[in-house]
Amino acid sequence: MRVIRSETADQLSGKSIGDGDRFRFRCHPGIGCFNRCCRNLNLFLYPYDVVRLKQCLGIGSDQFIDQYVDIVLRDGNFFPDVLLRMSDDKEQTCPFLTDAGCSVYPDRPDTCRTFPIEHGLRYGKPGEPPREISFFRPPDFCLGPHESQEWTLETWAQDQDAKTHNKMTRKWAALKGMFVTDPWQGQGPNGPKGRMAFMATYNVDAFREFLLTSSFLKRYKVKKDRLARLRKDDTALLLFGMEWVKLFVWGLPSKKIRPR
Ligand code: SF4
Ligand code: SF4
Repeated sequence: MRVIRSETADQLSGKSIGDGDRFRFRCHPGIGCFNRCCRNLNLFLYPYDVVRLKQCLGIGSDQFIDQYVDIVLRDGNFFPDVLLRMSDDKEQTCPFLTDAGCSVYPDRPDTCRTFPIEHGLRYGKPGEPPREISFFRPPDFCLGPHESQEWTLETWAQDQDAKTHNKMTRKWAALKGMFVTDPWQGQGPNGPKGRMAFMATYNVDAFREFLLTSSFLKRYKVKKDRLARLRKDDTALLLFGMEWVKLFVWGLPSKKIRPR
C-alpha cells in the first residue's frame, strides 16, 4: 500500500477500481508468463511482510534484514523504504523464486498477494483523513487479464488470503503517512530516534530484546498479560511497536503503554 498525495494520484498508470467493480484475472502454472512477474522488481516490504517472511524462513528479523532487504532513504523522505533485495543474476530474480514457483507462497508479501491490484492511501488537504484507493495494474507482459475469471476487490482479497496482510499494511501506511513532515528535530532519520522507530517496526526481534532488557519497563507500565503476549507473539509486538513510535515520536498517548 502506497501513500499517495492527491496531486500525484491522477498521474498513476492503471485503472482505478472501487468496491463492486469487476476485473478479469487468473494466474496459474500453465500460463505463458508464469513467474515472469517475480523478476527485476521494486518489491516494497512492509513491517508485517518481514514478520511473516522471517517466520517462514525460521530466522530472526535481524538476519532477514541483513540478508534480504535494501533500505532506501529517498530525498525528501523522513522514513526509509524497505525493498526485497533481488538476486544478483542477469534477470534479478526474486530470491524466493524456484522452478516450482514461489517458495514462500503462504507467507508471500502483501504486494505479491494483492497483485495485480495496488492499494494506496490518498492524502488530500492537511488534516483530512486519507482515502483508500485501488488500481488494477498488471504489467503489459502479464497474460492474467486475458483469462475469463472475474473478481471484485473483496473476492480477490479473500481468494489470495490477503485480508490480514491488507489490514496490517493499512495500519502501517497510516503511520508511514505521518512521516510526511520531518519529526526528527534535527537528528535526521538516521539519528537515535529514527533508528528506534525503524527497529520498533521492521526489526521485531531486536525490539523485543530492547523491551525486555532495557529500562523500558521501568519507565513505562505494560499490563502483565500484554507483556506475556509480547514475549512470544510477533504480530502483537509489531502493533505495540507502532503505538510506541506514535508515542515517542509525536507524544500520542497509548492505552497499551503508560508512563510510570
Ligand atoms: S505475469 Fe501475471 S499471469 Fe503471469 S505469472 Fe505473473 S501474475 Fe501470473
Ligand atoms: S515473494 Fe514469491 S510471489 Fe513474490 S516476487 Fe518473490 S517469488 Fe514471486
